[in-house]
Amino acid sequence: MINRNSGFENLTAGYLFPEVARRRREYLASHPDAKIISLGIGNTTEPLPEYIAKKMSDYVMGLATKEGYSGYGDEQGLTQLREKIAQVFYPGLVSGDEVFISDGAKCDIARIQTLFGANVKVAVQDPAYPVYVDGSVIVGAAGKNNGSGYEGITYMPCVPENNFFPDLSKIEKNSIIYFCSPNNPTGAVSTKDDLKKLVDFANANDCIIVFDAAYREFIRDEKLPKSIFEIEGSRTCAIEINSFSKPAGFTGVRLGWSVVPKELKFADGTPVHQDWNRVMTTLFNGASNIAQHGGLACLDKEGLAAMKSVIDYYLENAAIIKKTFEGENFKKLGAEVYFTGNSPYVWVKFPGKKSWDMFDSILDKCRVVTTPGSGFGPGGESFIRISAFGHKEDVQEACKRLASF
Ligand SMILES: *Cc1c(COP(=O)(O)O)cnc(C)c1O
Repeated sequence: MINRNSGFENLTAGYLFPEVARRRREYLASHPDAKIISLGIGNTTEPLPEYIAKKMSDYVMGLATKEGYSGYGDEQGLTQLREKIAQVFYPGLVSGDEVFISDGAKCDIARIQTLFGANVKVAVQDPAYPVYVDGSVIVGAAGKNNGSGYEGITYMPCVPENNFFPDLSKIEKNSIIYFCSPNNPTGAVSTKDDLKKLVDFANANDCIIVFDAAYREFIRDEKLPKSIFEIEGSRTCAIEINSFSKPAGFTGVRLGWSVVPKELKFADGTPVHQDWNRVMTTLFNGASNIAQHGGLACLDKEGLAAMKSVIDYYLENAAIIKKTFEGENFKKLGAEVYFTGNSPYVWVKFPGKKSWDMFDSILDKCRVVTTPGSGFGPGGESFIRISAFGHKEDVQEACKRLASF
């Protein structure tokens, strides 16, 4: 028999969301009539803007004609889309051939792990989006879990005490640093000064930052940076990954992109861009041409306005949730609410309580599903994450129930 990939042997514990789903099922089994509202998983709920959907459907009908048909395209994506992303999101900072179109940010994170392989040190924010760690474990870069985390990973606590920006001095030289801003799950957005510290550290210590900016369009405070490439010095130390999933509701359509600047190099001088191009052309065969035409529509004047109004809708939900957790009933429990208006997540601390206990009691008393912060790493213990992705009427009903928690 073939030996099991040791990366999978090392992978510990159930993934967060299956456990959330299990507890929800268990609750429903004993309360079959309960109308549960989920503010748990960060999945979009609002329909695609019609303008964007129409452009995709026109393209699909074109595929049914001799003139409009096309088969495989360039694995790196449509040139027009690569250039438009560079112009719209990175004006003057990035060129079209540094943008690689993909089937989404999570898939790009997985491919990035094949780019660096098993012999690399990894640093992550704690708490963090689970794929950075779990993907590193699978490729063998994280070692074993000794009970307080994986041996090969440096966990960087991001907590209210440090304003959600980590102590960089813990990171070893030559590390890959996964960094997410606006952050999932904390909702925190790093300032330009903070990101400058991160970039300077990475350049001085031969690290590469993998900057996940999946929530950039939720930033409403104009002083806050939306891309790592707004920071001087970043072109020699950073990759950015991004996605149409959250801003355009493309979670099911699937479309994302990565940016690899040509100045970024490995120790032997090879441009990372060269190997990334090889990864994308060898292990990937291009994003759906339908999705890519949807992406082009997102970046038109009409598309950008449509995306903004869907995001505004979710941000309004988030503001309602924030207000609810600032209510007297939660104050009595010592709840601390973290939300700055620049992300779809409200992050709430219940000092002295365990995340899963708060998850269970909110489910039990209010029939509302949240996400336990501890599922994102030890630094998330005592927190819960509430997602603003939901229909307004569901969010309002959930908040009504929560108000009498
Ligand atoms: C949702 C999410 C992604 C995944 O995006 P896809 O493009 O749908 O794969 C990536 N990063 C973070 C932080 C996310 O929350």
